[in-house]
Amino acid sequence: MSMEQIQRIFWFRRDLRLHDNHGLFESLSRGGTMGLFIFDAQILSRLQDKTDRRVAFIHLQLQRLQHEIKARGGTLHVVHGDVLDVWKLLLERLHPAEVFANEDYEPYARQRDARVAELLKSKGTEFHLFKDQVMCAPDEIQSGSGGPYSVYTPYSRVWLERAAKVSLQPRYASETVQGGWVQAEGFGQLPALQAMGFEKTDFQFPAQEVGNHIIREYAETRNTPSLDATSKLGVHLRFGTISIRDLYRQAVQQSETFVKELAWREFFMHVLWHHPRVVDRAFKPAYDAIPWLNREEDIERWCQGQTGYPIVDAGMRELLATGFMHNRVRMVVAGFLVKHLLVDWRIGEAWFARHLLDFELASNNGNWQWAAGTGCDAAPYFRVFNPTTQAAKFDTKGTYIRRWVPEIESFSYPKPMVEHAAARLRAIETYQKALGK
Ligand SMILES: Cc1cc2nc3c(=O)[nH]c(=O)nc-3n(C[C@H](O)[C@H](O)[C@H](O)COP(=O)(O)OP(=O)(O)OC[C@H]3O[C@@H](n4cnc5c(N)ncnc54)[C@H](O)[C@@H]3O)c2cc1C
Repeated sequence: MSMEQIQRIFWFRRDLRLHDNHGLFESLSRGGTMGLFIFDAQILSRLQDKTDRRVAFIHLQLQRLQHEIKARGGTLHVVHGDVLDVWKLLLERLHPAEVFANEDYEPYARQRDARVAELLKSKGTEFHLFKDQVMCAPDEIQSGSGGPYSVYTPYSRVWLERAAKVSLQPRYASETVQGGWVQAEGFGQLPALQAMGFEKTDFQFPAQEVGNHIIREYAETRNTPSLDATSKLGVHLRFGTISIRDLYRQAVQQSETFVKELAWREFFMHVLWHHPRVVDRAFKPAYDAIPWLNREEDIERWCQGQTGYPIVDAGMRELLATGFMHNRVRMVVAGFLVKHLLVDWRIGEAWFARHLLDFELASNNGNWQWAAGTGCDAAPYFRVFNPTTQAAKFDTKGTYIRRWVPEIESFSYPKPMVEHAAARLRAIETYQKALGK
């Protein structure tokens, strides 16, 4: 197929699937489409681990996608480089009339897309973006006064109403569009992980689907970390290997609690969209005055799961070993770092960002700020989780703890690095003083 017939490029980003992919459907429906994915050199250069599982995950998904697209007579071209440079080169070689993609709401992505939009415009290429990774786009929901929400409950009420309407709309079944792809000669490469400075991993990624029984029983079992009772779909939602609309449709008849978690995901996107400053500042500015202790040794013991608090250590070790940590335990370890050790929430947030397979800027930031009390609709500063009672309540038989801290009863297990009652008091006094309360 000659280059002239490549009329459209569909730019895959956080939507690595053919099924129910809105932007892709629109592009294929108009025909003459080549697929593109860019390994953004700016993002990859910031990653610290050669074995980063997220990069390996994306690479694996791209191999699958290339195969699926080839089988449909098309091409997926994968490049590693600076996004603008890649686009400049591509536009010189091909002269597509239109570029299609799905919206990405993170601050960096918004800036990147604005720059690409400008470049495309200067070359006479149209750029079309579609809502795909969310039920409700961050700017779609407004409070009664016309501004953004900063409290989850009223936000979620509006979200639930709107999401129900979205679910009735047609599926964007891109795989059934006939003839939408073009096979592009000279394109279709996929750089090896090693060529980009990363290594292969034999890691088993979570399945791409969740059983109905998990969703049905979610309200009762979701707080028990020893059970395999949550969906583990975070990474698939992050990179769009599943459709949020499909997941919503599966869940909506079975569990309101589960659906409300999907609303939390979008609530934090809404917050980040309207307040991009939260990336490195407290949502409530007064909380930036807290004098964190940030002791190196404390941070290291927390990171490695050596605090002497079994539930905290179990969570931190689960994270290092699997890239996952149960939500209840995430709340406990985050509270412990921030309140018991008086370590800046941004340090914990960065550790999670480095190791979580399902790392998502909005959710990670929002939940860390929730735990630190610095965020909107956050836990009050004087609420300090007791790790021992949390363990007694949510890991009643100690099954989860023994799985990750097998030496719990031996002499080699450290004594608690701080005493709960004293640390609690210190945290409350420190917050009160900084906040002038
Ligand atoms: C300190 C801290 C940091 C976190 N960092 C992240 C992060 O980087 N990325 C991330 O996706 N989630 C994060 N969460 C939220 C939550 O812990 C995970 O979404 C959840 O544990 C992922 O497991 P799952 O896919 O089995 O979720 P399930 O329990 O099966 O829930 C289904 C989906 O709902 C969404 N969801 C559930 N709970 C939350 C929540 N509290 N906030 C936002 N979305 C939610 C997720 O997309 C999740 O995949 C964090 C929570 C805490 C307390």
